[in-house]
Amino acid sequence: MICPDEFIDLRSDTVTMPCDGMRSAMQSARVGDDVYGEDPTVRLLEETLARRLGKAEGLFLPTGTQSNLVALLTHCGRGDEYIAGQQSHTYKYEGGGGAVLGGIQPQPLEFCKDGTLDLEAVRLSIKPRDIHFARTSLVCLENTMQGKVLPLEYLLSLPVFAQQHDLRLHLDGARVFNASVAMGVDVKVITTMFDSISVCLSKGLGAPAGSVLLGSAPFISEARRWRKVVGGGMRQSGILAAAGLYALQHNVERLADDHSRAIALGNGLVSLGFQIDPVQTNMVYVDCSQYDVETIRQRLLRKSIRITPSKRLRLVTHLGISDHQIALVLEAFADSI
Ligand SMILES: *Cc1c(COP(=O)(O)O)cnc(C)c1O
Repeated sequence: MICPDEFIDLRSDTVTMPCDGMRSAMQSARVGDDVYGEDPTVRLLEETLARRLGKAEGLFLPTGTQSNLVALLTHCGRGDEYIAGQQSHTYKYEGGGGAVLGGIQPQPLEFCKDGTLDLEAVRLSIKPRDIHFARTSLVCLENTMQGKVLPLEYLLSLPVFAQQHDLRLHLDGARVFNASVAMGVDVKVITTMFDSISVCLSKGLGAPAGSVLLGSAPFISEARRWRKVVGGGMRQSGILAAAGLYALQHNVERLADDHSRAIALGNGLVSLGFQIDPVQTNMVYVDCSQYDVETIRQRLLRKSIRITPSKRLRLVTHLGISDHQIALVLEAFADSI
């Protein structure tokens, strides 16, 4: 039983419960004080992900928000600027941490339909080197971005662009494994285009907590200092890292199941008359502008199905959702509209 929760919870892929195998890996983890660099399980997780993503080193952090923040603090100084999407997690959903704690100014741009930032728009927003302006030094991208997979051709064009304009590239890769599984490529194909990558273990990979920031050895060494500054230096955190290692071993390839369930859910909703965005990974975006979503939410809840009501409804599949439950959800939607 992977998800003992009595609910069919489609609000997010953060709601997964650690399975027995993961819990037992946590229980038997070898641990030490990681601030002293003495936790062997944390080190193994950092090394494992660094190798897998083609980077020199990794840094284990409690959350993805802190991982992105530490990346900003490491890449940028006070008075620097980073370019990100209007709807990006880093800019919109992290309390403005870079600005609040680092004096780093965001320059948000509209995302293109495919989740990319138009590089010509990025180029035009780079500030001249002049005392009037913040120093544009970093571009942050997200992959997947609201369930969308950034196109390979776009990713391949990034390093030359960044070099031409003396910019660093950070990837908020909270769900980068969803992207690599959907593309059917090694995750390195995506991650080697970036100077740093943040990966969440607590989303579709199913760990209870934790993110890993990856980059060069000097980058990670500086990031380690910033992690301590923002209070993210943990002690016997190998207990959490063990869950992350278990997730990497058991829960990456199976993301394909979440994707096919999202496609089945999307197709079923289309049959019921809903309009949806094309489904690429584990998220279905449903146009509910014609519906009373609060009523739908209440009716679904009576059948133990949880959604976050929105006119642009986001339904997320994860390892706690089975084929059978997708069928139940579609029946419940049919009865709720
Ligand atoms: C979840 C998420 C994060 C970080 O989330 P935490 O809840 O802080 O772990 C960052 N970026 C994206 C795109 C996310 O979905």
